[in-house]
Amino acid sequence: MATGSAKNGGAGQKKTSQNRNDARTLKRKRVKDDLSVLQSATDALDPKNPDLKKFTDLPLCEPTTAGLRDSHFEVLTDVQRAAIPLALKGHDILGAAKTGSGKTLAFIIPVLEKLYRAQWTEYDGLGALIISPTRELAVQIFEVLRKVGRKHQFSAGLVIGGKSLKEEAERLGRMNILVCTPGRMLQHLDQTAGFDVDNLQVLVLDEADRIMDMGFQSAVDALVEHLPKTRQTMLFSATQSKRVSDLARLSLKDPEYVSVHEAATSSTPTNLQQHYLVTPLTEKLDTLWGFLRANLKSKIIVFLSSGKQVRFVFESFKRMQPGIPLLHLHGRQKQMARMEITSRFTQAKYACLFATDVVARGVDFPAVDWVIQADCPEDADTYIHRVGRTARYESKGRAVLFLDPSEEKAFLERLEHKKVPIERINVKENKKKSITNELQNLCFQSPDLKYLGQKAFISYTRSIYLQRDKAVFKFMKLDLDAYAASLGLPGTPNVRFQKGEDIRRLKNASRAAISSGDESDSDGEGGKKKSKPEVRTKYDKMAERQNQDVLSSHYRKIIEEADSGDDDEQDFLSVKRVLNDDALDETAGADATTAATAKPKTIMLGNQELIIDSKRREKLLTSKKKLSKYMDKGTKLVFDDDGNAHPIYELQNENHFKQQGPAEALRREFVQTEADKVREADIEDKQLAQDRRREKRDRAKARERGEEAAAVAAQTGTQLEGCDADAEAALDFLRSLPVAGQNGSDDEDGPPKKRAKKWFEDASEDEAEALQKAKKRKSGKKVFEMGQEPDNLEDLEALAAGLLED
Ligand code: ADP
Ligand code: MG
Repeated sequence: MATGSAKNGGAGQKKTSQNRNDARTLKRKRVKDDLSVLQSATDALDPKNPDLKKFTDLPLCEPTTAGLRDSHFEVLTDVQRAAIPLALKGHDILGAAKTGSGKTLAFIIPVLEKLYRAQWTEYDGLGALIISPTRELAVQIFEVLRKVGRKHQFSAGLVIGGKSLKEEAERLGRMNILVCTPGRMLQHLDQTAGFDVDNLQVLVLDEADRIMDMGFQSAVDALVEHLPKTRQTMLFSATQSKRVSDLARLSLKDPEYVSVHEAATSSTPTNLQQHYLVTPLTEKLDTLWGFLRANLKSKIIVFLSSGKQVRFVFESFKRMQPGIPLLHLHGRQKQMARMEITSRFTQAKYACLFATDVVARGVDFPAVDWVIQADCPEDADTYIHRVGRTARYESKGRAVLFLDPSEEKAFLERLEHKKVPIERINVKENKKKSITNELQNLCFQSPDLKYLGQKAFISYTRSIYLQRDKAVFKFMKLDLDAYAASLGLPGTPNVRFQKGEDIRRLKNASRAAISSGDESDSDGEGGKKKSKPEVRTKYDKMAERQNQDVLSSHYRKIIEEADSGDDDEQDFLSVKRVLNDDALDETAGADATTAATAKPKTIMLGNQELIIDSKRREKLLTSKKKLSKYMDKGTKLVFDDDGNAHPIYELQNENHFKQQGPAEALRREFVQTEADKVREADIEDKQLAQDRRREKRDRAKARERGEEAAAVAAQTGTQLEGCDADAEAALDFLRSLPVAGQNGSDDEDGPPKKRAKKWFEDASEDEAEALQKAKKRKSGKKVFEMGQEPDNLEDLEALAAGLLED
């Protein structure tokens, strides 16, 4: 290169380029020296050194140090002190530390250092991958990475979905560090061409136990398949599993266990006050409402068990105007809405956020005063993560757990086992106020709300039914009718778990079975359930009333015993673990017994044999539509002049075809005959057109004659007695003339009103099109297909608006 510039330029130029080269070499040397100093300092670092207190005590490169300084991070937290030195030395890490203790920096700093030390550039591709279980958490990790790493030269990206795959894919190839959710990342690894991860240096799993959980299992396993084995792996969580199988799945090599709070007396932050109160399911909303009204000047997160619960409580409380801004967040909202809500809650001073477990883990909302768990969490770990949304870092916080009497004992045991210190509090009697009446009114006035309430009811009862910990969640103890009434619902919605089985029947059956035994809690209650009230109540009447609104079909679907179709309402599966092993065994066993005892029936459909071995198949027999799938479709025939049937297309056999002569000659012959036919038809057409023109001309002449005759008659003022026949002909002719504006005959001279129809076009096609257009013009609105059920509120609203404005 030096010689190249000498050829082109003079002596001066030669000198500057020489200087530049010198400078570059010097810089390179300096960086190299810096790196070797860093490396030797890291090698000499004693991870157990008690004098490590500040970030400046660690061998970190200049850009990282600057980034930390600018973000005002100075003193190391426990987990950072324990994990960062080990990670810098290249160990695999399994880190556990309480919520809010600074785990994010404990992995972000090693990531930045690792790539810096490798002098990673944009040409080296993806160097680090950080996986988060939720989008919200991924966004937050990305923000921290951006803040602390902003003096670095690396490019970092966020892969969480919500945008088109293509849009993301375009930028992916250029990224050095990616923060992602497992599913989306896997999608890219599988589908994005040219996205190469062979160079990956570090893999981080934040909230690792959640990511290794059943819900993400297959995605994570498949994802790890793509990654190179020689890499550093770090796992962090407040509740860390040390399951050997998990570690093997990630191929961790002699991981260092960093568990800084293992010896602590509690597994939750020390500056967190934790309480529980016992409130029956039927009074839960009253208690929650009372709590909100008493804490208007606070920042509160209320955890509920499903998105449907969240929507109902949010919508109904919003209408009741508690006097504190309300927000809601769940996984089925659109990405933009989720981001917007998170940022609004982050900035809010006083607000109440109703949320599902999408924000139970990792999310760092500043200054949250209260975490309310209105629905009992599925396990103690979830409890620990939920309460961890408050009392973060060094701030204080309070948490209240609502428990139904049936949940109290077992769940408190679970908490104790996990070292969670919690105390009971009671709701003051004078503060108790029932909001059932208000809810009833709201549901009565607004079918939308009632619909949400029904959905909430169904999702809650189902989730209880499906919970894994049967000692805590006792489905049989739920008073469903009273619970439905407490939501303000007219009547108790039917919930089916398996096909054809409704919850009440299921429940009553087992109650009947239990009643002989000693079920202390169900005394009195069971009897009340079984005898159906003779008198029809207000609720019954309301339930029978047929809705007149757009939601009526949904409403009826829930209220009535639907008589056909499978219940494909699977979205309640937001419960993390759907069936426990016992339940699976049970169903498997049941299948096995039915298979063994009942001999499957078979019937013939057309020439196909259909085996009736399940209820689903039996039901199928009642539906003609569904059966048609199995039936012989039949073939179309044409009949010749003798009345013999032939298939529409009859294929000759090949030999027969060959006997007729060479294919090319046949083709030419065929073309020739067809061309002749066309020519003949053309001659006829021309003749026809000529005739028409002549006829027209004749008519025009006759008209002229008629007019002249009429003019003569007018002039003479006499009755044309002698020429009756002529007059009659003229009148006839006049009658045959087109009326103005009416296009009676084919007018060849006027502008064509319509494109001439081609021989292959069907008249009805045009008509249908015109009709469609006319319809569109008339309504001028978006056409909604009613076949599909709208599945979110926006769609419902749009649907309602579209129909009502007509
Ligand atoms: P975790 O992941 O353990 O739940 P985070 O990493 O989200 O905790 O950190 C919790 C809060 O503590 C964040 O707001 C973060 O800014 C703050 N934090 C973390 N490390 C430090 C530190 N060394 N000094 C001051 N604040 C810190
Ligand atoms: Mg975290």
